[in-house]
Amino acid sequence: DLESNRIVWSPFHYELFGYAATDTFAVEFHHFQDRIHVDDWAALADAIDTARAQKTQYHHTARVVRPDGSTRWFSGTGRFQYDDGGNATRMLGMVRDETDERQAAAQLREREQFLTAVIEGSPIGIQIFTPSGTSLRMNAAMRQLIGLPNDSIGIDEYSLLNDPEAQRVGVAEMFRQCVAGRPARIERREVDFTAPSYAKWPVHHRRFWLESVFFPVLGPNHEVHAVVAFNWDVTDRVEAELTRQRLQEQLRQAQKLEAIGLLAGGVAHDFNNVLTAVMGFADILRSLSAANDPNLELVHQIRLAAERGTNLTRQLLSFSRKQILRPEVFELGAEIHSMVPMLRRLLATNMQFDVQTATVGGVLVDRGQFQQVLLNLVVNARDAMPNGGCLTIRTAAGQMDPGTPAVRLSVADTGTGMTDEVKAHLFEPFFTTKEHGRGTGLGLATVYGIVSQSGGRIELESSPGNGSVFHILWPRCEHANAAPTNQIAITAAPRTETLLVVEDDPANRDLAARILTHEGYTIITAASGEDALAVAESIPHIDLLLTDVVMPGIGGRILAERLVKARPGLRVVFMSGCTTDDVLRHGVSENTVAFLQKPYSADQLARIVQHTLDA
Ligand code: ADP
Ligand code: MG
Repeated sequence: DLESNRIVWSPFHYELFGYAATDTFAVEFHHFQDRIHVDDWAALADAIDTARAQKTQYHHTARVVRPDGSTRWFSGTGRFQYDDGGNATRMLGMVRDETDERQAAAQLREREQFLTAVIEGSPIGIQIFTPSGTSLRMNAAMRQLIGLPNDSIGIDEYSLLNDPEAQRVGVAEMFRQCVAGRPARIERREVDFTAPSYAKWPVHHRRFWLESVFFPVLGPNHEVHAVVAFNWDVTDRVEAELTRQRLQEQLRQAQKLEAIGLLAGGVAHDFNNVLTAVMGFADILRSLSAANDPNLELVHQIRLAAERGTNLTRQLLSFSRKQILRPEVFELGAEIHSMVPMLRRLLATNMQFDVQTATVGGVLVDRGQFQQVLLNLVVNARDAMPNGGCLTIRTAAGQMDPGTPAVRLSVADTGTGMTDEVKAHLFEPFFTTKEHGRGTGLGLATVYGIVSQSGGRIELESSPGNGSVFHILWPRCEHANAAPTNQIAITAAPRTETLLVVEDDPANRDLAARILTHEGYTIITAASGEDALAVAESIPHIDLLLTDVVMPGIGGRILAERLVKARPGLRVVFMSGCTTDDVLRHGVSENTVAFLQKPYSADQLARIVQHTLDA
């Protein structure tokens, strides 16, 4: 009552404002005002005054501070009554305690914020759907996964469910299964993702490997309320695995070639002995024939056929990496340019030929073998461009492994290119796709052998229709080694020395003995290392030991060591088609031992023996 300034309160008012319910004292306006929170009074008073002036209803919320210090929130509503003159006479109001509601709402908000923080902070991409497939929510990891900006609004509607690429890997199917109440899982699917429907964001394209789990959230009656999808990116792991598989495949390939190499090397070794005998006896036959003998032509043909065979065994030996090498340090560029005129002649007129070399440091490689590598690659490139094209030879600096500088030789053609099938067998000896009589299948096998034996590596880029590039990498090598001294002084004096010839192959032993006897030497033969040691016991003087390297039992190098120890000054000549004896190989490459490569001609044998004795 505005006139008497008295308030009539319900018991609930007394309680709310912190007065005992039994305190039914006469309430005055200050009893009300005193307990309103100071911060809330101005707004509350304003609401009431406005309603009074405008004759409208008022609403307000405010806090009550009770004498015990506790605070309650309440909302109030009311209106004024007026006399005939329009003056306010009374105010009617009611209040409602909102404290518990507000607390519950605040708790709910807090819980919601907490869950949001968990979902947003999760490293796993989370998306929540209605059962009909509408996206309700997507977290930061999910946005990142599909490459959408984190702060974009409206993006929640985007879903992998609608993405055709994701559907391809079965996401939609998983979703259906999940709506039917069963959780589902996708293991490692590759997604090639573009976000085309969101043109306002920069178009983002990403390939990634995805793993997902979908599970249904059930309501009180076991109906599916929502579907939650967890997606995580396993690209790093999958790529590491793919790399491992690729390396394993490379290793398997290398092991296969190693095995074939062993086989090829064995065959070539035995075959060399056969060829040595054929060539040698042909040489002897020729020297025994009169100059006008009509059969000389036949002998010549035998010699030519044996030489062709020698060519084959040489290629097989380079593949099996058992060749004796004479590596030297040289710049690839200069060597390539010296070969250009010869290479150009190999190419047809409709082929462009481009050579770009840079000074990139030396390599330590057998020069003849390098020429063989380049020649084989160029011939293959030519064969791959039956309708013409462009052949490019290039050198550049490269790396073997990180930190190991290398010299790179690249031979590129614009020809047919290769299928994966061809690439898988490329380096195997006798693998060819060329018509019978055109290809031997030894070209790349030889390249492989030479490059591996000289510490290099081959890399290949090729696909059908896109030409091929072979890259050969060799470790860079700067120090030059001593120039080989191969000059042989020939003296015409008849020979009188005594030679011990050790060779396990009877035909070859006989051959060597014949050739050298013919030169005037006294020859003693032995069929093995042990045999040779025994024979040597009974001979007072030997000038030179000519020995095969690879023999059952005591091999050539050990035999030579023992005999030289007993007889200082004994000269030694080794002969072999191939050897895995590293000490000897080293000696040969350093020019410190006399070495005769099988198969040899009568002339070559005579020369090396003579040279070694005279040196
Ligand atoms: P060949 O040349 O005698 O067939 P190679 O060992 O030199 O033997 O090559 C083996 C096979 O590799 C060839 O038959 C061919 O199918 C393929 N090849 C080699 N080089 C190339 C190239 N530059 N382009 C396309 N295919 C090639
Ligand atoms: Mg070839």
